[in-house]
Amino acid sequence: MAHFIAKGLLLITTLMLLAGCNDNETRPQIDIEGKTMGTYYSVKISGAISQSKQQLQQEIDVLMEQANDDISTYRPHSVLSRFNQNHSSEPQPIPRGMADIILTAQRIGRDTAGAMDITVGPLVNLWGFGPDKHAAKIPSQQEIDAARANTGLQHLKLLSDSRGEWLQKDLPELYVDLSTLGEGYGVDQLVQLMERKGITNYLVSVGGAVSSRGVNGHNKPWRVAIQKPTDKENAVQALVDLQGYGVSTAGSYRNYFELDGPHYSHVIDPTTGRPITHKLVSATVIAPTALEADGWDTGLMVLGAEKALKLAEEKNLAVYLITQTDNGFIAVMTPQFKAFLVK
Ligand code: ADP
Ligand code: MG
Repeated sequence: MAHFIAKGLLLITTLMLLAGCNDNETRPQIDIEGKTMGTYYSVKISGAISQSKQQLQQEIDVLMEQANDDISTYRPHSVLSRFNQNHSSEPQPIPRGMADIILTAQRIGRDTAGAMDITVGPLVNLWGFGPDKHAAKIPSQQEIDAARANTGLQHLKLLSDSRGEWLQKDLPELYVDLSTLGEGYGVDQLVQLMERKGITNYLVSVGGAVSSRGVNGHNKPWRVAIQKPTDKENAVQALVDLQGYGVSTAGSYRNYFELDGPHYSHVIDPTTGRPITHKLVSATVIAPTALEADGWDTGLMVLGAEKALKLAEEKNLAVYLITQTDNGFIAVMTPQFKAFLVK
């Protein structure tokens, strides 16, 4: 009798194990990739979807095209480019999504004491990192001062009334550059598309901005790897489970020009009008939206390791900073970031 019970128990255990195995079985995973904003987007979904992959890809492409038509400074006819070309101080209508970006940018701009500044465009262009790329040369102090005079968040106003949102400038030459937020915004657009469709297991990315929710095709939480800087291979520095949050990394090592030795980053310190030079090599931020993460990472990058860490602690941000020292790279993170680490 005892033997039988044991057998029964064994059977139940085996069934439970089998059920456990089913959990681990690969679910259908859909991978969609494409180009946008001068980089790549990727959408990974686990589980079935209620349309063909081709249809979904088409919807994604339309969404990304729309984002570019709104905010790309590389498209002369985008809403943003038209705002920049129009030197009038009259309010100009802008789409809702663009207003959201500007609002977030203004807030992070204030919180970083102007380190993140979407009006830094004239300086970006002067240093040859903008749409009108020219041969790398170091601008004179006079040129820098002249470009700086055409920057400043205080010259940009966001207005909203029952008819919609409007953008206004009080400097004719003001040039708004949303490049540093574009990837985060793109990711949030993809997240919203997934949510509208009732898809709850996805990992979406545009360039260096990522968001994920739920589990992958193996029924495991999606893991996002933060790479070691400057390493040739894809060496992993940290693994996070985003749980519906967005992550973005800004790094001075990814886009720069080299002239007689030093590296010139494409991130400009608005207070000096020059590319950042300090030892902070990357700033990774996890935030409720990828847009927010993408805004903060740039601001923290400009501030440098010490100020960035202090501000991150003050604002309870989930931040991971990698600094270069004579003895290699050092990483520091806030407790909020630690909570996302995969154990
Ligand atoms: P990273 O490559 O480090 O992730 P991004 O590509 O997100 O950086 O942003 C870099 C771009 O942001 C630059 O090419 C420029 O257009 C813009 N930019 C540069 N400096 C600033 C700044 N201080 N604030 C806001 N945008 C900036
Ligand atoms: Mg950024």
